[in-house]
Amino acid sequence: MNTETRAAYPRSPRQHELYDVIVAGGGPAGIGAALGAAIQGARTLVLEARSQFGGTATAALWMEINFLFKDNDETDRGGVHRILVDAIRQWGPDASIPGRRTVRLPGSGGNLNVHPEYLKKVLFDLFDQYGVDYQLYSPVVDVVKEGDTLTGVVVAAKEGRVTFRGRTIIDATGDGDVAYLAGCEMETEGDESTGWRPPVTVAWAVCNVDCDRFFEWLGGDLELVRHQYKTFNDLIQDYRQRGYNLPSWIGFNKTTVPGVVSINNGTSLDLELDCSKSETLTLVEKMAIDQALDFCRFAREKRLPGMENVYLMRTGGYAMARDTRRLVGEYQFGDRDVMEGTGFEDAVASKYGGSDPVGEQRPYLAIKQGALFPYRSLLPRDVEGLLVAGRCSSATMLGHYGGKSMGNMISIGQGAGVAAALCAQLDTLPRQLDFRLIQEKLDEIGVRL
Ligand SMILES: Cc1cc2nc3c(=O)[nH]c(=O)nc-3n(C[C@H](O)[C@H](O)[C@H](O)COP(=O)(O)OP(=O)(O)OC[C@H]3O[C@@H](n4cnc5c(N)ncnc54)[C@H](O)[C@@H]3O)c2cc1C
Repeated sequence: MNTETRAAYPRSPRQHELYDVIVAGGGPAGIGAALGAAIQGARTLVLEARSQFGGTATAALWMEINFLFKDNDETDRGGVHRILVDAIRQWGPDASIPGRRTVRLPGSGGNLNVHPEYLKKVLFDLFDQYGVDYQLYSPVVDVVKEGDTLTGVVVAAKEGRVTFRGRTIIDATGDGDVAYLAGCEMETEGDESTGWRPPVTVAWAVCNVDCDRFFEWLGGDLELVRHQYKTFNDLIQDYRQRGYNLPSWIGFNKTTVPGVVSINNGTSLDLELDCSKSETLTLVEKMAIDQALDFCRFAREKRLPGMENVYLMRTGGYAMARDTRRLVGEYQFGDRDVMEGTGFEDAVASKYGGSDPVGEQRPYLAIKQGALFPYRSLLPRDVEGLLVAGRCSSATMLGHYGGKSMGNMISIGQGAGVAAALCAQLDTLPRQLDFRLIQEKLDEIGVRL
């Protein structure tokens, strides 16, 4: 690569540099954290295990990114949400369309269905624009500690184990890999009262669909599929009994590409697997390809209106878990906190939406719109120099699952990123940081919790 070409591409992360903030994981929480920190001027590095940024937002293929706005009127959340929405919308309707916006049961809303390839492009561009260093293909596999304080992470890069050092590490891996490796107490048991584990899903996209006819048949809206299972899901159950390998729950998303429909489903719903393990993730991938191919066979044979000549286009980025490891931190954000709302003095993020209905096993539950999320739920009890953001933050199963939407994870990540940047500026540790300073900085960038 000549010098000119090289200059147009990102600077390689510097192994010998002491970063102000290292973010492990580039999903919704990692995006919030990295941009939140960089906006405050912190030298920030994002390390992502896989081949793309966006986490579930990219891997789930046009699945609606809920609560990028506060509501269906597109009330602005400010801060990173505004930056991200503006960057996506610059690319017009090829990149995003408004998603399904449920009014009666606000499980989803304030959303955009975003083309995964445009999302990748937008995230590279935003990281470049805000001076964030980054590296893909870099799973964090170990940590560096001095006493109780985390001072770095080790990634399994193609060239071997590489260490990066940071003043504050933000675990935004979804699975809490960094916190787990650092020896923090974690919860992995699914729902505390019932032991229920949400499914792990591989999404699929199908093509050559007459989308108008298909969605009209479904009732014009995914809502009908979710709440009037009578037509569609009865059909699915029937064909399952006839030997078709279909997941027991299927939902559909409109996309930005003519003739293409994205399919969310409960791939492992019947098995309730612990997907913090590579072994179970492998099993899910194998199940998913069988299910995706059988869905197309089913749709053609049953001549689903609009899907008579459907083809499988691709399966999603990877097996996506809804709940794996959660930190047991300074404060465990609980069921009542999310459902009724608690006036946390140290609030640094907020949640909108509801708890996702999954088939008939898990009904919809309302949450408090704008439920405040406290700084203490990012703080481990026993390790310094670490903040844990996103689906692995300290919460009960329902505390997380209620309002688990990506927009809310961006909000939590943003709180962590701003906090970590302040720690560098003030030369202090996250635990010692005055939460009022985080709130002031959030206010300055237009965040309205
Ligand atoms: C199947 C499914 C359907 C969903 N449907 C919706 C929906 O329709 N709308 C909505 O808004 N929300 C939806 N959600 C919820 C939402 O996607 C998640 O709550 C959200 O993505 C969590 O964000 P996160 O950044 O914490 O984790 P993730 O999105 O899981 O991102 C974690 C990132 O960290 C990376 N990573 C993992 N381990 C490591 C490591 N060791 N080192 C470095 N990087 C690592 C991953 O590759 C990934 O990029 C859904 C979730 C699932 C699983």
